[in-house]
Amino acid sequence: MRIEDYLDLVGAEPIARIYAIARRMYQLRVLNVNATYHGGGVAGMLQTIVPLLNEIGLDVDWSLLYGEPDLFQATKKLHNGLQGEHVTISDDEIALYLRISEAFARYTPIMHDAVIVHDPQPLPMIAYRDKEGPWIWRCHIDLSNPNEDVWEQLKPYVLRYDAVVVSSESFKKPDLPVDTHVIPPAIDPFSAINRLLTSTEVDAKLAEYGIPRDKPLIVQVSRFDKWKDPLGVLEVFSRVRKETDTRLVMLGNMASDDPEGPMIYEQVVKRAAALSDVHLITATDPVLVNALQRAATVVMQLSLKEGFGLTVSEALWKGTPVVATNVGGIPLQIEDGKTGYLAAPQDYETMSARVLDIINDPALRTRLGEAGRDHVREKFLMPRLLTDWLTLLKQVILP
Ligand code: UDP
Repeated sequence: MRIEDYLDLVGAEPIARIYAIARRMYQLRVLNVNATYHGGGVAGMLQTIVPLLNEIGLDVDWSLLYGEPDLFQATKKLHNGLQGEHVTISDDEIALYLRISEAFARYTPIMHDAVIVHDPQPLPMIAYRDKEGPWIWRCHIDLSNPNEDVWEQLKPYVLRYDAVVVSSESFKKPDLPVDTHVIPPAIDPFSAINRLLTSTEVDAKLAEYGIPRDKPLIVQVSRFDKWKDPLGVLEVFSRVRKETDTRLVMLGNMASDDPEGPMIYEQVVKRAAALSDVHLITATDPVLVNALQRAATVVMQLSLKEGFGLTVSEALWKGTPVVATNVGGIPLQIEDGKTGYLAAPQDYETMSARVLDIINDPALRTRLGEAGRDHVREKFLMPRLLTDWLTLLKQVILP
């Protein structure tokens, strides 16, 4: 993985800027801590950005908070609470949450110039460690309207951090007097999910999973998570089907730190039984993600809440139009009517109308797809993310 690989995509100037910022940062040691190596957008992004930062000359590590199922039951509640749901977290769950962070903080070698802690799972670590450099809390969740009890419980830990990073301006917290920065995520165009595939490869991958190419394909790629509104996807599909013959694929693997996945999947299976031409797939297969986003006539992302929604940029990068909800980081990626279509969460009428518009108008599909790809090239590829992180790290480590 080399930063020069991006030359043809973004030109020389952004690459030169990255090297220029990194110039006084060689060998600075940075540790990332999160809770899963696979499943979900955070792990996917770390898999690319960590090697790239090392290639540029920093010394960047990635450690995994070792959890157990009970911990992830508790931290999923915290996650749901931060997204605004009313949750009840027992004292035992909080005690477990703190105990695991404490053990991890005490026994993990941390001799770094900066520590980046991702999301709520490892957040309290900071309270159990003598700091030797700045710590940054990188919160990938939409914090704009949290359950106040959960936020008040976590806030004392957040206050200890030297900086907070969120994905969108709208997630900044007025009641948080910590230096807060906005760094939207980005995709890796060379990963298995995004690399160029030939049409033969796309066909072969769909055939492998028994998905015929006989009619327009509607796709949602998302963990089976209630926040991604999988039942809403079925609702939109059933409305569209009344007007035109289509096929739906919902692909969702299970993240190791999301214990709710299997239960939500069961609900979707039950509801989908009443519909034909629905394919539900739980395989972990990044090339299948790639092939589906390319083969789709329309990609949907109907999230009720969304930190960013990397799947949106992934589909746009492939020139496939997206119909999505106007929540979290999605409006950064989709300008309604220009780089895709937006609708309010659960506004299934508008969503199905937009999906039909795209299916019925190939020229519209091409126009939205091209504008979407240009937008991602400009804003949501790795060089922009590297620039933002190097700038922030330089500011906090070498003020
Ligand atoms: N993804 C995947 N397989 C799946 C579902 C999702 O590889 O079955 C990938 C998806 O392509 C994207 C990431 O997981 O890269 C999900 O990131 P996003 O920001 O959309 O949502 P999150 O899961 O982090 O809430």
